[in-house]
Amino acid sequence: MTAARAEHFSGRDLLVFGLLSGCGLLQAELGREVERLRLRSGTPHINLTSVWSFAGVLLLPSALVTGLVAILYLYLATRSPYRVRRVSAFRVVFNAALVVVTCQAAAAVLSWTATPSLKSVLHAGWSGFGDLFLATAAYFVVAALITVPGLNAPDRSLRTLFGGWGDNLLEAATLCLGILTALAVTTMAELALCVLPPLLVIHRAVLVKQLEIAATTDEKTGLLNTTGWHALAARELGRAQRTDSSFGVLMVDLDRFKRINDEHGHLSGDAVLRAVAAAITGAVREYDSVGRFGGEEFVVLLPGLRQPGIRVVAERVREAIARLVVEVPAANGPKTIDGLSASIGLATYPESGTALERLVHAADQALYRAKNTGRNKVVSSADLG
Ligand code: GH3
Ligand code: MG
Ligand code: MG
Repeated sequence: MTAARAEHFSGRDLLVFGLLSGCGLLQAELGREVERLRLRSGTPHINLTSVWSFAGVLLLPSALVTGLVAILYLYLATRSPYRVRRVSAFRVVFNAALVVVTCQAAAAVLSWTATPSLKSVLHAGWSGFGDLFLATAAYFVVAALITVPGLNAPDRSLRTLFGGWGDNLLEAATLCLGILTALAVTTMAELALCVLPPLLVIHRAVLVKQLEIAATTDEKTGLLNTTGWHALAARELGRAQRTDSSFGVLMVDLDRFKRINDEHGHLSGDAVLRAVAAAITGAVREYDSVGRFGGEEFVVLLPGLRQPGIRVVAERVREAIARLVVEVPAANGPKTIDGLSASIGLATYPESGTALERLVHAADQALYRAKNTGRNKVVSSADLG
């Protein structure tokens, strides 16, 4: 936006600034209940404030955009359930500064285009739309590049920087709502209030989705947890019954895992569990479901397979674990853990049982046999006689 305006705010600027700040605060206040639930469930913070800050970018001189971001983050620091976690003042200031940089980047891109203000965008048709798209893309990319988790991540893959499809869609939705808010405000400033209800609905809907994922995911490994795996397995059982097909269940338990913990510490043990989870996932097909039943016990569902195919997969899983070399940090430089092994019990539908509990029990008994007859092997429930 223009430098001249930055020094001199019109009454209209101040009205828009007041409305956007007010709506932002109102949204945060009305969303407190949702945020409290979210904090309790430990799912990531849903940041929808870009609706207001991006609308600000399109409508306000840069000093007022900075003021708007400062007000919204000051609220977060003092009033929101964030305080439950005692988020440090430094972190709030730091996050606010990142958002200011993001806003300034988007504003700079817009000011470089042929249509440097929302008004000129509206009169320029498709070329104006293109310029608006560039500014939105700048906000999107800068926000992704400078977010702290992205920078701290050990691998800087596109996925760690930009998150999953769902996260991006949410960010795109908030920016689009920012544009629509700016448009509404240009027509009639009070219309900003109409953005509030849809925003609160989005906030709630995203939390529900997050809770659903959290309730079925094992935090340590990112695999399905017992609940999630059982839900999927029950669905597969139903499908197999309807289509007269078969499937396999593998129960995988690491051998002498207690020793790993005793020798290298619990944190290294956790790193091994994550590596094993990745190894199992890598050894099966994309539509096989891998879960962690707590501890160092994993379970795999292999739809559409029958013997001897299931045993081939089980052997592949066993070998993948045996080949693992896990690097873990230690006091005097990183060290490696290898020589791992796992025992695997295998059950097949419908031969080992036609109910899920029965199948899991059969795989468990086969695993028990594998443990008692030397470990580091695959035993099928059919071998038990
Ligand atoms: P085996 O199965 O071969 O009989 O021997 P094991 O040493 O693996 O014995 P068991 O399965 O009974 O013990 C599991 C150990 O796994 C006990 C516990 O210290 C460890 N463990 C369980 N959950 C976790 C976890 O989340 N992280 C870490 N680091 N260790 C865990
Ligand atoms: Mg074990
Ligand atoms: Mg165990």
